[in-house]
Amino acid sequence: MFKKILIANRGEIALRIQRACRELGVKSVVVYSEADRDAKYVRLADEAVCIGPAPSSQSYLNMPAIISTAEVTDAEAIHPGYGFLSENANFAERVEKSGFTFIGPTPESIRIMGDKVAAKQAMIKSGVPCVPGSEGALPDDPKEIIRIARAIGYPVIIKAAGGGGGRGMRVVHTEAALVHAVQTTRQEAGAAFGNPAVYMEKFLENPRHVEIQVMADEHRNAVWLGERDCSMQRRHQKIIEEAPAPGIPRRLIDRVGDRCAAACKKIGYRGAGTFEFLYENGEFYFIEMNTRVQVEHPVTELVSGIDIVQMQIRVAAGEKLPFTQRQVQMRGHAIECRINAEDAYKFTPSPGRITMWHPPGGPGVRVDSHAYTNYFVPSHYDSMIGKIIVYGDTREQALARMRTALDETVVEGIQTNIPLHRELMLDANFIEGGTSIHYLEGWLAQRKR
Ligand code: ADP
Repeated sequence: MFKKILIANRGEIALRIQRACRELGVKSVVVYSEADRDAKYVRLADEAVCIGPAPSSQSYLNMPAIISTAEVTDAEAIHPGYGFLSENANFAERVEKSGFTFIGPTPESIRIMGDKVAAKQAMIKSGVPCVPGSEGALPDDPKEIIRIARAIGYPVIIKAAGGGGGRGMRVVHTEAALVHAVQTTRQEAGAAFGNPAVYMEKFLENPRHVEIQVMADEHRNAVWLGERDCSMQRRHQKIIEEAPAPGIPRRLIDRVGDRCAAACKKIGYRGAGTFEFLYENGEFYFIEMNTRVQVEHPVTELVSGIDIVQMQIRVAAGEKLPFTQRQVQMRGHAIECRINAEDAYKFTPSPGRITMWHPPGGPGVRVDSHAYTNYFVPSHYDSMIGKIIVYGDTREQALARMRTALDETVVEGIQTNIPLHRELMLDANFIEGGTSIHYLEGWLAQRKR
């Protein structure tokens, strides 16, 4: 096991990784920007090093500063968390070339999965079901593009191979609009991602977002740890996640989960990862793979009893997975609400000082947050200030616990989206379960102010 790990992230995930290190008896170094000087995990760290001013380009994305901090503090490994440099293959490569362990997959795996055309081809080869679409990137010839779209059937979606964060996509309903849409998406993709390649997929009208958590070691063992339903999204940002996915037959999930684990073995994947799928009419369609820990990992931890962040560290240290697929047993139901510092109605960010922070508690309630009374939420980063995660024997019990937890929570001084979560936990369709990825946006459009 490592003696010391550098945490190249901030906020709740920095604290989460720090806690995993403590339990494993590993010392941790945190890097922080000037805006995060007073963060709780900075104060609690074994060592903390300021690596630059508030803008992430000069701090959390500053590779030389992070790697030289690892050097001067004698850290052996670097945990990138999520966001920032976590899916940057060049960073992973530089970390390893500098003699440190990158807590994540190999740079090659990150590179393949970061190119959606390459990722999809790898998945098709591994037997993971994908959305019907073009074979690889679209050609330049307009006639050929029209032929491909006819074969797929309208509506189609044009997606950038290098896209991410819900950007670089365009839905096309008619042949008349097709060629122009491809050209525009190509131009935008070239400018935004430095890669003009685009591809085409059938546009699924009303799917759910269901994802499979995997964990693999470098000895070619791979397991999947159940699924998560993350369909409650606004502008492609997840806000509520749960496990298991309500109402989907077990045998369908088992089949796709087994395919994901097999794909990991086939591509030599190591570490934690997530296969994201759209689910519609009883079919799963792969859309992308995330090669890192995800914000919503706690729901899987609660139903599986497996500490995903600790497992990431242990397999990065070369350990074998300590369980087989048969030993992975899911129990009960977990729900997560992301708490954002934003107006619950207009969604404008609400940074500033938290004058009162009172998190919930009680049976089956977990709070992952770096916030505290008097904490100043900086305006430079993502607005998420924490997550409330609940566990229940049944979905009904989990819902009841989430309602109680949200009612107990007090955050003063800034606005949060807690009022939105409280309304959603009482919404008849959400309570029934199985809403699509468009449900929340429709609900918001109709909501009385
Ligand atoms: P990103 O990396 O930008 O998040 P994804 O490929 O994961 O891109 O797609 C983001 C979102 O776009 C999905 O969650 C879904 O809402 C929508 N989407 C992507 N592909 C399709 C498709 N073929 N049909 C319908 N919606 C899609």
